[in-house]
Amino acid sequence: MNTTQYSATPGDLGGRRILLVEDEEMIASVVRGYLAQAGFLVDIAADGFTALHLAKTHSPDLIILDRMLPGLDGAEVCRRIRETMDTPIILLTALATEDDRILGLEMGADDYVTKPFSPRELVLRVKSVMRRSIKEFSPEPPVELAGFALNPSARIITSDGRPLVLTVREFDLLAFFLRRPHQVFSREQLIRGVWGWDFGDLSTVTVHVRRVREKIERDPTKPELLKTVWGVGYRFDAGVADPSTAAASAPDVS
Ligand code: CA
Repeated sequence: MNTTQYSATPGDLGGRRILLVEDEEMIASVVRGYLAQAGFLVDIAADGFTALHLAKTHSPDLIILDRMLPGLDGAEVCRRIRETMDTPIILLTALATEDDRILGLEMGADDYVTKPFSPRELVLRVKSVMRRSIKEFSPEPPVELAGFALNPSARIITSDGRPLVLTVREFDLLAFFLRRPHQVFSREQLIRGVWGWDFGDLSTVTVHVRRVREKIERDPTKPELLKTVWGVGYRFDAGVADPSTAAASAPDVS
């Protein structure tokens, strides 16, 4: 097995700290091995309360969180972490049902991996999510549009001067649209452009669009900014009333 392609090089992601929350010792041990080989420092918590404690005391750069845990379950741990921290979270879900995945994303997870999973795939996901969360990896220029100000190096978006509280992927999604106003993107294009996946569950996009709308729209059920273009995808309208584009918009159904 060739593992060198998964190694983090110094100056890349090596030395970053990951909190692995997993009650099954065998899985925790295997995953830790792969992550350590990729250059990450790994702390393990075997239950939800320990996870919350270590998340506060160890300041991990990313958290891998098993959904099914004794005591406090993974979804609740995720929710509580999100109350105070925007640390990227990858949820490990045992059940491949859509409800389960969507619940995880609704709770504020940035990504999920379905069990049983390939540890190498998990390491790739970790790197992908972590790169997006690291400030130095955002060399793009700032954007000001429709009352929003995007500061990529600080990873902050303000709306009328007020900073929005966004998870890693919510930030990426809104930043993507702020750079490309008045253009329609399909969910497939967004999965590739925002998540960097060549495959993936399109409901991931739907959930994140909904979450972003809840943070930027006056009435999230009647979006005026991040609009659904029926049968095509989504478009960010930068507050310019244009009857021709307005007429092309269908009532929001997602
Ligand atoms: Ca478990």
